[in-house]
Amino acid sequence: MGFSKTKSRLAVGLCLLASPALIQADAGRVHPRDISAASTTNDPTAGLDILLQSRDDNPTTTPFKEFRGCSDQNKKDIVQAWWDVVNLARIPASINFDKPGALESRIWGDDIDHRTEATDLIHKLYSNILDLWSSKTTEKILISCEDLPQPDRAEKEKAYCQKIEPEMNGKRIGGYALSKGSSYDGSAVVLCPLFFEPGQEHLADIKKNLGNDKSNQHNADVMGGKARLLLHEMAHLSALVGQEDADSYAWYASLKYFEALFGTPNASLRRDGEIPTDDPEVDPPQPAKPTKALNIILENSRHGVPNDKDFYDRMKFLFFSVDFGTSSVCQVDPAPVAEAPANDISQLIKAHLPSGTFDVKTQDGMCQYKNDGKGNAGALWCGDKAHSCKEHADFRKGREGDVYCRNLSTRIRGSVEQRAVVACEW
Ligand SMILES: [Zn+2]
Repeated sequence: MGFSKTKSRLAVGLCLLASPALIQADAGRVHPRDISAASTTNDPTAGLDILLQSRDDNPTTTPFKEFRGCSDQNKKDIVQAWWDVVNLARIPASINFDKPGALESRIWGDDIDHRTEATDLIHKLYSNILDLWSSKTTEKILISCEDLPQPDRAEKEKAYCQKIEPEMNGKRIGGYALSKGSSYDGSAVVLCPLFFEPGQEHLADIKKNLGNDKSNQHNADVMGGKARLLLHEMAHLSALVGQEDADSYAWYASLKYFEALFGTPNASLRRDGEIPTDDPEVDPPQPAKPTKALNIILENSRHGVPNDKDFYDRMKFLFFSVDFGTSSVCQVDPAPVAEAPANDISQLIKAHLPSGTFDVKTQDGMCQYKNDGKGNAGALWCGDKAHSCKEHADFRKGREGDVYCRNLSTRIRGSVEQRAVVACEW
């Protein structure tokens, strides 16, 4: 997983649907962009129309050098989709990940505020789109409405619009991306017939339809369309950052746009393939099922009875390293790998999550559980790899979340109650 491998893969020429996700930001951090007044209004399209007044169908106002094999109507659709992509990129280019909202957590992970390399890449992609729009970039991308030769690819690795991949369940693809090196000049996006068909709407049409259909205003599955598809393919290009998980970038931008209009969309079923527009080679694999876990348990051990001389309540966090799917409540085997006093908590029912950095021995060796104390479930860091953690369902259940541990209680001549508060699973 090294940089050199990335380089050599890029060097083999016109052969990558997706380029590896390891391309680093140019120089240090990529900061969110401050873009016009759009983010201060409810309508993410407000303000942009003025900027785009000069828009037309002229290819010189797009980052595309040629529309190969495209009809006039195709060209109109592509140019419109491009302006929509610019529109979509504006909100995410300026997003601040310090306080991840529902969409940020859902798409990028609960710990996205801790992962600066990831947020740099996210900012960089959308920022590059805006640079293409503002013509800071003079190199141009080839758009093709017909399949392009891929001489450097083995036959079975070639992408075709009509190729039906077994894993696509008979569904057709909307397009594919080709990178030659990491320049825009060597980049091409092929848009397949599906891209132009009804069902892949332009942004304005989706917005209008949703305006008239309250019941669908939070339905992420109807928020796709041509712009999402074009952004998806562009996100694959090495010149833009070359993300294998292009779909997350395309969806994030689309959903942020509609979130600004209608509130946060519900979770989509798109991973089940309801929207048949992804190119199969780069369909993100289903994440592997987790096999390991770190469980964090808050324990209240009460010694004696109130008013006794030796009465006390002791609160502490216990960290357990276990196989995925293993409960640690009231368990003595395996023993906790770490514990920490929770002196600022007086009752389980008023529980909060541990705050700070805790060394814990896991199945992957020594790791650190980190929580900034701002209310999220934190993350488990093993080397430079972070596993996001989530609140345990019992954490907010009130007294129902507490478990009386008879086996532990007899040991201290008192009572021990525990509540599962966090699980980190990977
Ligand atoms: Zn793709």
